[in-house]
Amino acid sequence: MEGYGGSILYINLTDGSFKKLGMTNKFSSKYLGGEGVAVKIFTDHVNPKIDPFDQKNAIVMAPGLLTGLPAPTASKTAFVSKSPLTGTIAESIMGGGIGAQMKAAGLDAIAITGKSKHPALLLIDDDLVRFENASHYWGMFTRDAAKAIKEDYGDFVVATIGPAGESLVRYACIECEDRQAGRAGLGAVFGSKNLKAIAIRGSKDITVHDPDRLISLALRWQETIEKSNAFIEDTKYGSGEFLEWVNAERGVFPTRNWKEGVFNERKKIDPYYWAPRYAIKNKACFACTKSCGKLFVVRDGPYAGTVLDGIEYETLYALGSQCGNPDIEALARANELCDQYGIDTISTGVVIGFVMELVEKGLISEEELGFDCRFGIADAVPKMVELIGQRDGLGALFGEGVLRISKTIGRGCEDFAMHVKGMEPPAYDVRGMKGMGLGFMTSSRGACHLRSGFYALDLTGKFWRFSGVDRLSPIGKGEAVKLMEDFMMVYDCLGVCKFSRGFFKIEGFIELLDAAIGKSFTEEDLLLIGERINNLKQLFNLGAGIGRESYRLPKRITHEPIPAGVSKGAVLTVEEAERMLSDYFTARGWDENGFPTKEKLAQLGLG
Ligand code: SF4
Repeated sequence: MEGYGGSILYINLTDGSFKKLGMTNKFSSKYLGGEGVAVKIFTDHVNPKIDPFDQKNAIVMAPGLLTGLPAPTASKTAFVSKSPLTGTIAESIMGGGIGAQMKAAGLDAIAITGKSKHPALLLIDDDLVRFENASHYWGMFTRDAAKAIKEDYGDFVVATIGPAGESLVRYACIECEDRQAGRAGLGAVFGSKNLKAIAIRGSKDITVHDPDRLISLALRWQETIEKSNAFIEDTKYGSGEFLEWVNAERGVFPTRNWKEGVFNERKKIDPYYWAPRYAIKNKACFACTKSCGKLFVVRDGPYAGTVLDGIEYETLYALGSQCGNPDIEALARANELCDQYGIDTISTGVVIGFVMELVEKGLISEEELGFDCRFGIADAVPKMVELIGQRDGLGALFGEGVLRISKTIGRGCEDFAMHVKGMEPPAYDVRGMKGMGLGFMTSSRGACHLRSGFYALDLTGKFWRFSGVDRLSPIGKGEAVKLMEDFMMVYDCLGVCKFSRGFFKIEGFIELLDAAIGKSFTEEDLLLIGERINNLKQLFNLGAGIGRESYRLPKRITHEPIPAGVSKGAVLTVEEAERMLSDYFTARGWDENGFPTKEKLAQLGLG
């Protein structure tokens, strides 16, 4: 099949068996690739009611349809499973090179079930599939494990978990080439299956429909990217380049466990300060020339020797403002430790900020923790990461995530436990960004900015079909969030980076798909595919018992106005949230409890 690897590989780790089935045109035209294909395979095979750590849970990985082809910023691979953090279906999208290797080995998806008797390494060398004993890699940091596997087996691309995934930290991630499938704890699903790593090497050519046209389109889009303002700013300062603007001009940079929306001590965590001092070169995801990552090096002081790929905007919030931490070197060390233990920086930082508030309110003592852990104590942040990564002492509880910590501690702390559906939120204070607030509620994996990408509309007032968006109004947000979710799904099916959305939209996808797979899509065709996949995910979540009450925003968002800054006084009330949610369900063709109507399912070919 043009543009595809051609096969789907099914692995059972319990008995070491595997089989390959062919990718079909019927399947690909309904789900494209990447997240779409992974969601379809996953929902076909997994009972929504099972425990995420049950060996019958599957983890499916699938490169985007354009990943591995000459297409700008098409670097992404989707991982889909039932999340140990949220109990929902969850996807996590990674920029490492593993997806391109899969395609070159002839694979459009790998679906893994079962549980190995001993720590396992899954090795795929073109058509060869092997299960290797990984006991000697178990316990290793992610970087060390990947390095050792390459030394032992050769030039494979390796996706691995760290000690946190092995010990089932519910927000453990999967790492590949300094890129992570970060959110929703899918690294713990690897751990629950005794799967330490997957190493893949492929050497097959991928046939495309019109190779000359594909290359000329890729070059033209590349030129467009390089002329954009986003290219200049991102390659100089990374994804955090708009931190100061979000903080000062919009007043929606969550601070000190979301008590505030402005971080006054931000000077040194702003990339305009740190990039010239600590970033020694740019780093990029696989085959991307818009390199928004930085090789960050600390040379002196207590954190000397810290080296990492970062620091992303979300991490500057999570391990910075969320913890009241103004020290970029302590932040960098905490980021490096998250990557090494293999834990999501966003959830980790939100857990740490929550614990700091628990300490402040006397619900956890310094004696219990073993060190001073209050807002603004910079060295507490890397210490907390160690505690969580090792699941040491209270770290065992902290590795469960904010929702479960709040249920264990009780005594009213649920009111300032920041999560939606159990997922800790990213760096947008949705009291002053109501569309993004609805996006947090409706995201199938819990509080997430990427499912709808609505922050782009709330922060700038315009994007794609939309203009004049009022970030403080709930009106019209239901229909708009629905459309954005369907649109953003197309990026994740194609494997295209959402950081390119400012200049690379559906018209670009249509011509690239035509050249790659020889099929003509319209904008509406692609949006319908996005809608179909979002409905499949909703059906899974309904089956898992995720009802309307699970969509609730944290009480701090609905009851405590932002106290200072440009968005002072902004709050997203329960009434506004419920009204937006009802509007959204109506726009989706779902009933008041989120069940798709028969007509909607028939329209999507899911009936
Ligand atoms: S723009 Fe940044 S995040 Fe996106 S693919 Fe390129 S390097 Fe990766």
